[in-house]
Amino acid sequence: AAAQAAATAKAEVGRATWTLLHMLAAQFPDRPSRQQQRDARTLVDCLTRIYPCGDCAEHFAEIVRRDPPAVGSGREFRRWLCGVHNRVNARLGKAVFNCDLVEARWAPLGCSAEEAAAGEPAAAG
Ligand code: FAD
Repeated sequence: AAAQAAATAKAEVGRATWTLLHMLAAQFPDRPSRQQQRDARTLVDCLTRIYPCGDCAEHFAEIVRRDPPAVGSGREFRRWLCGVHNRVNARLGKAVFNCDLVEARWAPLGCSAEEAAAGEPAAAG
């Protein structure tokens, strides 16, 4: 029962983390600032060390070492993230996700300052 609960928690934190990362990537700008690029790299880097499943963090560190985050644009970051998520999927025997569908699966929330402004009735259309 304890092992089952741990497996459930592991899957749950996994889904939550991928959700955060893909949603963040969905809103990552076409032309990110230096700071935004640094932030994305730092976030990934932190996960390779303090992700709350130690062996997952180690495997992820290996994946990231071979394929460091591409943060030059939103599109690049989304592609990179889809690729590394697929590597984890493959390790776990899960189906590979078609990265052409990543933007359909993970849409921006539409609640950042710029998006809120762009979505105001006058600008919305
Ligand atoms: P998840 O893999 O959590 O995916 C959530 C949703 O994302 C899917 O339902 C699908 O709609 C979508 N999706 C799937 N693939 C992609 C993709 N390539 N691009 C975009 N969207 C996609 N678990 C382990 O047991 N061992 C590990 O070593 C391990 N390492 C992990 C490392 C990291 C950094 C993270 C974040 C998680 C890790 N996990 C690991 C957890 C594992 O990846 C899953 O999150 C968990 O098994 C739940 O899987 P799921 O089938 O619900 O879908």
